[in-house]
Amino acid sequence: MTKTIDRISLGAMSPGTERFLAVHRYGTKGARPKAYLQASLHADEIPGMLAAHHLIRMLDAADAKGDIKGEIVVVPVANPIGLGQIINGAHSGRYELRGGGNFNRQWPDLFEGLLDTVRPKLGSDAAANVAAVRAAIGTKINQMTPDTELSRLKVELARLAHDADMVLDLHCDDEALMHVYMQPVHWDDFSDLAAELGARAGLLCMDSKAQSFDETFSLPWSKLKEAVGDKFPIPNACFATTVEFRGQADVFDEMATEDAAGLYRFLQRHGALAGNPGAMPALKCDGTDLEATDIVRAPKAGVIAYKAALGAEVKKGDVIAELVDPLADDQSKARQPIRALNDGLVLSRCLRKLVSPGDGIAMIVGKTKLAHRKAGTLLSD
Ligand SMILES: [Zn+2]
Repeated sequence: MTKTIDRISLGAMSPGTERFLAVHRYGTKGARPKAYLQASLHADEIPGMLAAHHLIRMLDAADAKGDIKGEIVVVPVANPIGLGQIINGAHSGRYELRGGGNFNRQWPDLFEGLLDTVRPKLGSDAAANVAAVRAAIGTKINQMTPDTELSRLKVELARLAHDADMVLDLHCDDEALMHVYMQPVHWDDFSDLAAELGARAGLLCMDSKAQSFDETFSLPWSKLKEAVGDKFPIPNACFATTVEFRGQADVFDEMATEDAAGLYRFLQRHGALAGNPGAMPALKCDGTDLEATDIVRAPKAGVIAYKAALGAEVKKGDVIAELVDPLADDQSKARQPIRALNDGLVLSRCLRKLVSPGDGIAMIVGKTKLAHRKAGTLLSD
């Protein structure tokens, strides 16, 4: 057996309180490939947590059989801070209530200063370059001096993930079909994750500018590669992805067991686990540019009545919902149609049907880039 379990303290924000991360580690430290998986960084997104529970049970069995080949690190609860944010019975796990913002934004920029640090160590050996870059990123993280629970959470999770070959951040959407986000450079080698999970969309984006968790680990490589050009071989050595395990209410053992089995087969395919994963399932989606996926927004406040179901294929101009003004004097004129701005698949809808102006009410996955979709606005907040 190789398994160890660590508990990492996040310190105390008030006397007499302390939260911790539980870290399940399998395999020999430093073995390759290293896979890092965490669930529910947005703490009110529970499907990934249940999938991680089932995956840990499968990994425990694999470990007992000697089937761990690489190093696998699983953090089933990535955000104990948000997990405790229950106010009058309602869970608010997306934003830190102390004012730290969206838990999946503003992660540290691990590329900053990296070029200057590693340039003298780069050479013609790609593997040696990867080791030098990982070491430099690790040193940078070790020099960080977090002083709050939130900053400690970010530093500790980054320390666990930064040198992994594969980083899987398990989230969910409001009400949605399974989908994955990744950099376009990784789609050819890692679209099997989408196939194994039955994803209905593979949303590709080099840099959303949101400083999300996954991009924290993939971007240093693509930025370094761009900075050094042909002078030194720099692989995209960290595949990092956000997996959206459908919607918030999709928390069932039957789904989570299948999802964990899909993750397990993915880890087998990439050499972290022994055993034959069997034939690869057919992909149910293409990898499409995130700029071709529209976030349809509410023009004003009201009640949303959907006309298009999840999974519907819609055309530009189709009415996907009507916005109802429950205060209109004439209720026969209280409905405003909301139309799709692109052709595509209705991937997600919002769970809360009372909306404010500008709220995202649906994601529609198209194939043609949309002029109004640019970096900085690609992810909804
Ligand atoms: Zn999320």
